[in-house]
Amino acid sequence: MIKFLDLQKINAQYQQELREAATRVIDSGWYVLGKELASFEQNYAQYCGTTHALGVANGLDALRLIFKAYIALGVMQKGDEVLVPANTYIASVLAVTDTGLTPVFVEPDINTYNIDSSKLEAAITSKTKAVLAVHLYGQIAVDSGMVAICKKYGLKLVEDAAQSHGAVWNEKISGGIGDAAGHSFYPGKNLGALGDAGAVTTNDTELATTIEALRNYGSHKKYENKYQGLNSRLDELQAAFLNVKLNYLQKEIAARRAVANYYLQYITNPKILLPKCHTERSRSAETNYDSRLTFHDSHLTSHISRLTSHVWHLFVIRTKNREQLQQYLTKNGVQTLIHYPIPPHQQQAYKQYNSLSFPITEKIHNEVLSLPISPVMTDEEIEKVVEIVNNF
Ligand SMILES: *Cc1c(COP(=O)(O)O)cnc(C)c1O
Repeated sequence: MIKFLDLQKINAQYQQELREAATRVIDSGWYVLGKELASFEQNYAQYCGTTHALGVANGLDALRLIFKAYIALGVMQKGDEVLVPANTYIASVLAVTDTGLTPVFVEPDINTYNIDSSKLEAAITSKTKAVLAVHLYGQIAVDSGMVAICKKYGLKLVEDAAQSHGAVWNEKISGGIGDAAGHSFYPGKNLGALGDAGAVTTNDTELATTIEALRNYGSHKKYENKYQGLNSRLDELQAAFLNVKLNYLQKEIAARRAVANYYLQYITNPKILLPKCHTERSRSAETNYDSRLTFHDSHLTSHISRLTSHVWHLFVIRTKNREQLQQYLTKNGVQTLIHYPIPPHQQQAYKQYNSLSFPITEKIHNEVLSLPISPVMTDEEIEKVVEIVNNF
């Protein structure tokens, strides 16, 4: 069976270093807000090209804390509106509603599946305070049109960078493109911990210091609380694991890209639509990728010289015959998943939005299927997936 994502195999590559990291933390006697976190925050900020990175408990909290901090700072208030893609994982929307803000759904571009920046302006009202750009499936969602609109209307550009670690746009790296970004290190993400973990990156020092307090009960100083905060910290054990895995992220992205390029070149079944990369994003990224990244491995240059705005967290194809294709692949030993089967506005959790209609989003949710992609797939596995998909 070809697994959708073999996490055991991914982490086995680094088992010695991971065990050493765990031992170091166990022996230290210090388990929360310590040296490992400080070092990961420094490393990750450097990787994203931001002045601040703050470890938090998970990706949803990272986004919640960004909006909570903007509210604490008076930049936003409850009832204000945030433009969110209708086509996203529900966590993006939960972060908005959980902080008392109102999500305003915007349809995606049918080619990239990311929010359609040409539809943003029509959704803006006097209450609009931010755009939440979700870099879905690993592809940068920001384009020059979005940046111009945020500037024109004074909107904060918040990135949901949960799926896009290392993706590049316009000389900037995912997490360093907007005003603030939420990252997830859920085990299955491109940079995955061995449990839950997340981070906020930003160049805004006031926002960073506010989030630093908010993640720790709203306290800047022990037993003095300026805000009504959360307990949302990234513990030392996960930070130590992430310090190990961050060193291999570029290598893993290159391996994912090699799988994606093979699929793009050799899947030729006319019943299947392959993912497309936004040309503006690819072009602008191309020239600047190598010089920017700290953890870059020079021998990988040839693999990563193309399509750098996409880090292929997921390889998502589309077909009118999804159910049959998924069954056919399962029968032939290829595990697939659907990202995602039900859009946020049609979930039971959001009854108030159930009557809204987003035809492009709904079409995507009805037709997408994610093929196996990971840094540890063998050539035989990749070839087998292509053969079976083409035989369908
Ligand atoms: C995974 C994910 C999140 C949430 O991250 P967690 O660490 O699971 O809380 C948010 N947004 C997107 C797009 C995600 O894929």
